[in-house]
Amino acid sequence: MSMTANTTTDTPARPRKIALITGGSRGLGRNAALHLARAGIDVVLTYLNNAEDAAGAVAEIRALGGQAVALQLDTGKTAEFDSFVIRLRDALRTGWGRETLDFLVNNAGIGIHKSFAETTEDDFDLLMNIHLKGVFFLTQRLLPVMNDGGRIVNLSSGLARFSMPGFAAYAAMKGGVEVLTRYLAKELGPRGISVNVVAPGAIETDFGGGAVRDIPEMNRAIAAQTAMGRVGMPDDIGGAIATLLGGETQWITGQRIEISGGMLL
Ligand code: NDP
Repeated sequence: MSMTANTTTDTPARPRKIALITGGSRGLGRNAALHLARAGIDVVLTYLNNAEDAAGAVAEIRALGGQAVALQLDTGKTAEFDSFVIRLRDALRTGWGRETLDFLVNNAGIGIHKSFAETTEDDFDLLMNIHLKGVFFLTQRLLPVMNDGGRIVNLSSGLARFSMPGFAAYAAMKGGVEVLTRYLAKELGPRGISVNVVAPGAIETDFGGGAVRDIPEMNRAIAAQTAMGRVGMPDDIGGAIATLLGGETQWITGQRIEISGGMLL
């Protein structure tokens, strides 16, 4: 066989892209992971308590022909981040033979619905630690693990644009993540890393006790305020996140993209 023929035949396959999704055991993170798997992108997902749901997500991804692993992480506890990065590198080396990521989705989160007057300092600190401080420092710790040319998607909320009673602390953190996104885009741009923030409207997940999904009056009221005439489903968000990561969208950076079906336009 000639050298030329050999060279052509032996061209190595391009390495599969890998995304880290925080809070990938349920809801929007899990849905995004499945959309990514269908697009040929592998996933490291994290969970807080639900090891069983996380294992289920990994099994679903594998059934789609993708590769995945689940790691425990409390994104509200910065003291655990250094040891998480060590476990992440181990998992990447074991599963993929490398120690780097292409994509990061800062998705993990909780909702606390309380009026401004009733919100305690503990409520505020919990929301801040998960939704703002955790996103800030986890992303910082992951910088050496991210490949140049990678992409980051943060999760905000429609509530950072429009205001509804009961979400002052939560929405303030999401507003912070939107500003942080622009700064990350500016500082990581020289490495070719794009950073955007998606702001879902109300989506039927377990979030906030599953209120949007399980309380019919609330579901109807939100649908009535939405151009598309219904509340959002996880596929409405997971597909868009997968497109931002896997599509031809690298030139989009520093942007807030609301994915709400036109809520409160
Ligand atoms: P879900 O409640 O369905 O899922 C939450 C996920 O986050 C789970 O995987 C959970 O892990 C994980 N998680 C929760 N707390 C922590 C923590 N401290 N550390 C690590 N992981 C944690 O929520 P959604 O999927 O609906 O929400 C995902 C994101 O989207 C959140 O940032 C939320 O603020 C945002 N969002 C959601 C909207 C909605 O209407 N659903 C609207 C706008 C924004 P485990 O399974 O182990 O508990």
